[in-house]
Amino acid sequence: MALNSFRAALRSTLVGSKLSIRRGKKNVRRTIVGERRLDGVGLHTGRSASLQMRSGSPGSGIIFRVLWGEEVYEIPARLDAVVGQRNATSLGRGDVRIDTVEHLLASVSMMGLDDLIIDLQGGEPPAADGSAAPLLKALEAGETRVEVGPRPEIQLREEVMFKDGDVEVYAAPSPNFSVEYTVDFDTRAIGRQTISFFNLDLETFREEIAPARTFGFMRDFEALRAAGLAGGASLDNVVVIDGDRILNASGVRWPDEFVRHKVLDLIGDLALLGAPLRAHLRVVRGGHAAHHAWMRALRARPSAWGWA
Ligand SMILES: [Zn+2]
Repeated sequence: MALNSFRAALRSTLVGSKLSIRRGKKNVRRTIVGERRLDGVGLHTGRSASLQMRSGSPGSGIIFRVLWGEEVYEIPARLDAVVGQRNATSLGRGDVRIDTVEHLLASVSMMGLDDLIIDLQGGEPPAADGSAAPLLKALEAGETRVEVGPRPEIQLREEVMFKDGDVEVYAAPSPNFSVEYTVDFDTRAIGRQTISFFNLDLETFREEIAPARTFGFMRDFEALRAAGLAGGASLDNVVVIDGDRILNASGVRWPDEFVRHKVLDLIGDLALLGAPLRAHLRVVRGGHAAHHAWMRALRARPSAWGWA
């Protein structure tokens, strides 16, 4: 294949065309056997929320299905479907919008699941305890199966940087997926926290990252509520910080639970690339908007990556 058409194929694959997936890769695709179900309440909508997951056809990727009026809308878990990034990653199509997909997508991607149909009711996956652990547990409560078909991975070839003031997302080529994340909040409840995971795998995710809960600041709640967000938030599913204090009676799961949760959010957002990423990421003061911006910077630079 000529270099230009090869690059064009890479580009279109990254934006989600399943036709351009390269053939003949040894890496295998995975999906689940049978159905998984989880019910609860949406963090932002405050409405009852449920999700039902089953296998998708090989090559189809991760697809959300939402009943809207009389019609079922399919929304692919792709960067191009992002319609919101305030406090959560939201995907949409037309008038249909789903919120807070990142904890579920982080679990799906760390399990190496490639093709999945997710029927979502309530506009949002259940918030559960504010972490990804219940979602991961639901997904792991049954068998997975290997499918026929290629599973390309995105190999970073050049450094890619997004910077906006003191927010920074930097990535360098690496043979595996590694993350170094720093948060810096002006409260003694958090302060500056840095955590690193080298060659991050499912076991590390399950033990060290998935149980880290969403956190929020008391001072933001009124504004969030006025904006129609955090309607389902409570001390049962958010670590709430008021000044220098943590309001949850049970405290935190780790002193650095906050930065661990940021790593969880990052993994969920990176799942929107549609393929596993081999890179070493260093994020300082990041959030969904910065994660998405870095992914767009990657997509805008075809020379910066290739398939592995
Ligand atoms: Zn989160």
